[in-house]
Amino acid sequence: MRTLAVVGGGAVGLAVAWQAAEAGWTVTVFDPAPGSGASHVAGGMLAPLSEGWPGEDRVLEFGAAALAAWPAFGERLRAVTGESVFVADETLTVALDGADAADLRTVADWLAGFGHDLRVLDRAGVRALEPALARTVRAGLRADTELAVDNRRVLRALRAGCAAAGVEMRAQAVAALDELPHDRIVLAAGARSAELWPGLPVRPVKGEILRLRHRPGVRPAPSRVIRARVHGRPVYLVPREDGLVLGATQYEAGFDTTVTVGGVRDLIADAETILPGIGEYELAEANAGSRPGTPDNLPLLGPLDERVVAATGHGRNGMLTLALTATLVPALLEDESPALAELAAPQRFPALRLSSSGGVR
Ligand SMILES: Cc1cc2nc3c(=O)[nH]c(=O)nc-3n(C[C@H](O)[C@H](O)[C@H](O)COP(=O)(O)OP(=O)(O)OC[C@H]3O[C@@H](n4cnc5c(N)ncnc54)[C@H](O)[C@@H]3O)c2cc1C
Repeated sequence: MRTLAVVGGGAVGLAVAWQAAEAGWTVTVFDPAPGSGASHVAGGMLAPLSEGWPGEDRVLEFGAAALAAWPAFGERLRAVTGESVFVADETLTVALDGADAADLRTVADWLAGFGHDLRVLDRAGVRALEPALARTVRAGLRADTELAVDNRRVLRALRAGCAAAGVEMRAQAVAALDELPHDRIVLAAGARSAELWPGLPVRPVKGEILRLRHRPGVRPAPSRVIRARVHGRPVYLVPREDGLVLGATQYEAGFDTTVTVGGVRDLIADAETILPGIGEYELAEANAGSRPGTPDNLPLLGPLDERVVAATGHGRNGMLTLALTATLVPALLEDESPALAELAAPQRFPALRLSSSGGVR
């Protein structure tokens, strides 16, 4: 039997473990606290188009392919637990001033060049779609193919999938990869991956995020993802069964995951600017997590040496790109070279020293 160690039991590690076990590997996941990292706090937007920006063509290509893979991947997750992981099926990005409205048109024109036709809405068009939004909203960009997931349902389904496929879970931190006796190793330790492979260009990017619960008598929450920039800060609302997820701040703050008063204040104030009724919700949870960021906002998927394959660096898009990572990494373990994996190959960073096997060190 071929043995595989997966280091890290976040959404990425669990998805790879599940798919590799189904492909015939004997898999052990090492994680002292599986599902407790960024995957637990995430918003769950699958928004490669709305988050796109001219120049980030490769990020768009990878993200759009991941979005296209989600319906089938979501169906496989639903088959495991019986519950759908999807919570919305489109995104509306709104503009509060003329400069933001011009940006929406810039993004729409750029996306059209890649065959993604998104509609720019005027004030009346936005109000017709989402009457609860503030009257100050003057334009919107509607991405009617962008889904959103409940990240915690995704984690539940991945855990169930792993259990059904016979994956062994070990509640143990790995101190050094060369202590593991397995035939192959997948490094999926999220923002902490560089601790196990020094020089890997993955760094923590802190994000604070809130969960708001709907209360009886309060106007219903929007049924689609709403995104905006307020005072230059991004803010988004992602539907949940019982309310909304409101995210997210973004700082370079090392591995700090405290929730600050300033972060919560800004999130609520910015959200209230686009959805005035939000003060009526119950503030159910405040969390912070570390996004595993890379310099070019693409993940790192591919061999680091003869034994170790990276599945990390998913940054602010790990829930989105999960659907692709779950198929690309098992293929890489079979020494195949799927075309899309090229975009995420670790070797794209020339500063990394190549090992004798063509991996990076
Ligand atoms: C506030 C916030 C909002 C986000 N919103 C979105 C969103 O809307 N859409 C989207 O697509 N993405 C979003 N993301 C990004 C997404 O959450 C991440 O990209 C994704 O969860 C990364 O998954 P992961 O499994 O690589 O990392 P993690 O979920 O962080 O898991 C890593 C795991 O590795 C384990 N580990 C670490 N070191 C070791 C070790 N030495 N030995 C064993 N195990 C170890 C940890 O315990 C942890 O469980 C958001 C992130 C944050 C923080």
